[in-house]
Amino acid sequence: MKLFAIFGNPVSHSKSPLMHNMLFKNLNINACYTRVKLEDGTKLKEKFLALGLSGANITVPHKEEAFLACDEVVGFAKQIGVVNTMIIRNGKLIGYNTDADGFIYAIKDFKNIKSALILGAGGTAKALASRLKIDNIKVDVLNRSGSKLSYFSEFDTYTWESFKPKTYDIIINTTSAGLNDDALPADKNLLKNLLNSAKYATDAIYGKVTPFLKLAYENGTPTKDGLDMLLAQGVLANMLFCNNAHSYETTKEHMQKALEL
Ligand code: NDP
Repeated sequence: MKLFAIFGNPVSHSKSPLMHNMLFKNLNINACYTRVKLEDGTKLKEKFLALGLSGANITVPHKEEAFLACDEVVGFAKQIGVVNTMIIRNGKLIGYNTDADGFIYAIKDFKNIKSALILGAGGTAKALASRLKIDNIKVDVLNRSGSKLSYFSEFDTYTWESFKPKTYDIIINTTSAGLNDDALPADKNLLKNLLNSAKYATDAIYGKVTPFLKLAYENGTPTKDGLDMLLAQGVLANMLFCNNAHSYETTKEHMQKALEL
């Protein structure tokens, strides 16, 4: 039996085991996916090998540590230095990033996006900003504090103090504001102003209506929470785990059933 896992801290809330195991069961694949709470990210490779894993996902806060743990990093993950999926091939740990493409799949119904404001400057913001840029979308980044903004040298970046509202097609919350509290990711009046002129709003957080999404609903802005992104990044990761044996649509059909339980 092949064994897969998600590493994170916290990790108990993760829906990834449900999604991957649903597909393995439905397609009679002899594999199992578990979760591992990992406090020290530098132990990632050691743990992966000790457990005899065939592949893994990595979530908050170890995605940058995962990049360092890999023997080889492929594609977009290499560009941004953030890995959320690992597989073992010929004894080597190979790293990928499926979050960014997952987000693009998740917003494919949102048309004519030419500009985006990303709230937050963590790992998710890095992945989304760089990926949207590839699609020629003008991205600005607004973060509570300045220290994480140095990564975003190719973008216009602002702190809460330096930001002057503009019009954006989409406002994307990648902060953890609202995850375990009732915080908004920026000043309420500023957000209202931005949402008034935006076509769409999305939040990377899933499983709850965050204060940011609530504000967007009240404003009548079309929204998406992070569930579609979660599903899409999981589908792309599972295709890597299964060596592309199943199509995107087949993989999605099975994994989606786990989210309907
Ligand atoms: P990081 O810890 O790397 O970054 C968090 C960011 O949030 C920082 O920029 C931080 O600002 C900001 N922040 C935290 N609290 C507040 C607050 N109260 N007000 C304003 N800004 C705040 O996290 P990640 O980028 O890895 O993840 C961010 C979120 O995205 C998480 O909630 C995670 O669950 C979700 N996520 C969802 C995915 C999905 O598939 N749906 C995939 C990946 C992530 P500062 O620099 O000032 O501290």
